[in-house]
Amino acid sequence: MSNSIKDQFPVFRQNADEKPIVYLDSAATSQRPESVIKAVDDFYYKHNANPHRGSYQLGIEATEAYENARLKVASFINAKDPSCVIFTRNTTESMNLIAYSYGMNFIKEGDRVVITILEHHSNMIPWQQVCRAKGAKLDYIYADKGGIISDEEIEAKITDGVKLVAATHVSNVLGIKTPIEKIIKRAHEVGAVAAVDAAQSSPHIKLDVEALDADFLAFSGHKLYSPLGVGVLWGKRELLDKMPPFLTGGDMIDSVREQDATWAELPNKFEAGTQNAGGAVGLAAAIDWIESVGFDKIEAVEREIYDYAWAKLKEVPHLTVYGSDKGEHYGAIAFNVDDVHPHDVATILDADGVCIRSGHHCAQPLMGHIGTSSCCRASFAVYNTKEDVDALCASLLKVRKWLGFED
Ligand code: PLP
Repeated sequence: MSNSIKDQFPVFRQNADEKPIVYLDSAATSQRPESVIKAVDDFYYKHNANPHRGSYQLGIEATEAYENARLKVASFINAKDPSCVIFTRNTTESMNLIAYSYGMNFIKEGDRVVITILEHHSNMIPWQQVCRAKGAKLDYIYADKGGIISDEEIEAKITDGVKLVAATHVSNVLGIKTPIEKIIKRAHEVGAVAAVDAAQSSPHIKLDVEALDADFLAFSGHKLYSPLGVGVLWGKRELLDKMPPFLTGGDMIDSVREQDATWAELPNKFEAGTQNAGGAVGLAAAIDWIESVGFDKIEAVEREIYDYAWAKLKEVPHLTVYGSDKGEHYGAIAFNVDDVHPHDVATILDADGVCIRSGHHCAQPLMGHIGTSSCCRASFAVYNTKEDVDALCASLLKVRKWLGFED
């Protein structure tokens, strides 16, 4: 199956004498289409200045480019108020912003914070820190071994006394979508605030903060075909307005006196210091690119690849595939080869140009929950093909032979 989408990504355009790259690590970071790389270049070639500073023409152009990127992000996630879109470095910074600005100020002793066992460390450790500092309790919504969260578990864990629920939309290890809509609804029923980690869903699922009715939502540009170093936090205005700044310094103030200061309006209150305008421009270009492909096509292409990969991997001997056959999956499949450390598997696959991730995937408690300390993960984006999956499986068949196993 040829994939004209893949042709739009310069990293896949090898010379005849070069080994093709089979890139199956998009859950770590996606590749970038040429249009994104060109848009970033264009910004630095023609429009670069420090946004919100210079009143000269170039400064105005940089500000416009940066603020237009905000408008683009707002429309992409269906946020009615663009000033509630805050640029950060990545999902990690966005989650820390919520934890340190909201959590440290509005979670009190004896309160409960609830997250799921599927969380990436960046939506876990900030809540551990908040709970430790405030004397609150951190509770977990458990999934079954296949990654499925039941309605009963949501109801049992999100009860009176819970003040904040933070959950991933899609697991970065198992690729399984959580029942995020039910989690948010239940959080609101008990009067809790709901934060969504959309790092792994944003490339695969059309995000709509209005329909989700989340209170906060975070994602990283670099998993969404954009440059490294730009991320997004969206929040409801009534929450963002009452939260103190996370970082302080230039451009986030209204006025400063010797002993104190007042804060700028949103979004500047949360954007201290010089921002990654080139990254924001790249994120806007990535959104243009995604919208030119369309989520209908993205979902259809990825569904075909994912289902094909799931079936093919299940046929590879001596392979344990983690996660349930049931549920909605996006992007990632986790597995282990019997008797072989995941890092060895990844190294052997690399000899064939197959790029997968191995390790604990920044989800150590989930690893323990599914009964391993580490695993391999192949992850897919819209540029992948069935040939990529075939190359993965062919390479996997060699692993145990390389290491001297008889079968
Ligand atoms: N949340 C999830 C579900 C992730 O998969 C990741 C990264 O893999 C993150 C958060 C952190 O993203 P970043 O490293 O871009 O901050």
